[in-house]
Amino acid sequence: MAIDGRALISGAGIAGLTLAICLKEYGDDPVVVERSPALPDEGYMMDFYGSGWDVAQRMGLTGKLRTLRYPIDKLQFVNSDGKPYTSVPISRIKRALDGKYVYVRRPDLVRILYERAEALGVELRFGTEITDLREQETHVDVAFDDDSEGEFALVFGADGVHSGVRRLMFGDESQFARFLGAYVAAFHIEDHDLPVGRFAQIHEEPNRVAFYYPLGERKLDATFVFRLDEVDVPPEQQLSFVQRAFKGAGWIGEALLSSCKESAPLYFDTLTQIAIPRWSRGRVTLLGDACGCLTLLAGQGSHMAMAGAYILAQELQRYDGNHAAAFASYEAMMKPAIAERQEDAAAFAKVFIPTTQSKPWLRRLVIGTAFNPLVLPFAFKAFGARSVLEDDEV
Ligand SMILES: Cc1cc2nc3c(=O)[nH]c(=O)nc-3n(C[C@H](O)[C@H](O)[C@H](O)COP(=O)(O)OP(=O)(O)OC[C@H]3O[C@@H](n4cnc5c(N)ncnc54)[C@H](O)[C@@H]3O)c2cc1C
Repeated sequence: MAIDGRALISGAGIAGLTLAICLKEYGDDPVVVERSPALPDEGYMMDFYGSGWDVAQRMGLTGKLRTLRYPIDKLQFVNSDGKPYTSVPISRIKRALDGKYVYVRRPDLVRILYERAEALGVELRFGTEITDLREQETHVDVAFDDDSEGEFALVFGADGVHSGVRRLMFGDESQFARFLGAYVAAFHIEDHDLPVGRFAQIHEEPNRVAFYYPLGERKLDATFVFRLDEVDVPPEQQLSFVQRAFKGAGWIGEALLSSCKESAPLYFDTLTQIAIPRWSRGRVTLLGDACGCLTLLAGQGSHMAMAGAYILAQELQRYDGNHAAAFASYEAMMKPAIAERQEDAAAFAKVFIPTTQSKPWLRRLVIGTAFNPLVLPFAFKAFGARSVLEDDEV
């Protein structure tokens, strides 16, 4: 036990729950508040490996991750009528990452973490958010939106890219946001009859890319990424905004979007990174997307969220109650790794979505080469598959 009093974590997402578990296992007493009324049932599909895998292994969670089963045998890049021009067995991806790889939906990962936190007796309050933070010499006074108040030794903002803790402590998000020129929208489709088979499929066209992931009998997750200038899109217009962006799209894109029964996407946001000069102020610190959002283009935001939480808990132990030293050490260890991945993702954003100038034959050559069995392990290394936990004695 290193924290002299209760710790408050805002956000029961990937970073927040990982931190709660680690603190509880060290003997501390974290409370987690989560704005959503309950755990999510649906969410987007993610690749899980690298630093995230290493943390999950140390937490004893890889067994659970390996039991997740989706009917996905291959990753295919397909043309406008669904014919694959690059086809990669998932076993090849697993081999390139020494077997430390799974497809995981965000709600799966959150549920696995939640079940561990609950089993450890972590207090979780759903449907609650922080409305005010006032730092005192020995603690932080916190007010919540249900009119309750509390006194906490430390406060952790693990409340994602639009963090409320960050806004209260550091000010408006616009100071830290770096828009990468595109949008992302994710959908969950029940009861479809689209011909996706047992393949994760990627279909790209100028200024738009679609990803399709079969989940089982007639169920599908789809993610759409498209290039557009930043504008305000109210929730009730999000679906039509994405439908317009994919009007005339090949393969199943346009058909899928026009058949959407839900009034809004499951997830909708700009592709925006967060870079903030300091992650901590006094007794409050940030973790995960709240301080270092990479965007999906890095393919490792969840890995880094878990790694950050794990290292933060560890540094609090190492400095035995000296939170200022622990926060400084955590930031010094994580920030360069985040900054490097953000730069890579921002550079990748320029080529990830084809433009009208892109040459399809050249893209196909590059994609085919990157997924060649001899090249793939090196491609993953170049894209940050190396775990940050390997960097020192962490
Ligand atoms: C479409 C898509 C695909 C992605 N693919 C991958 C991938 O392949 N691999 C990968 O590693 N990463 C991927 N990512 C990134 C990854 O999902 C994030 O980096 C990761 O979820 C960050 O974890 P987090 O805990 O910081 O934030 P989140 O997972 O966003 O969790 C934040 C939590 O805080 C809660 N919250 C928000 N505001 C408040 C508030 N004011 N008070 C209380 N609670 C609040 C939210 O409800 C949520 O539960 C992808 C992201 C997207 C959008």
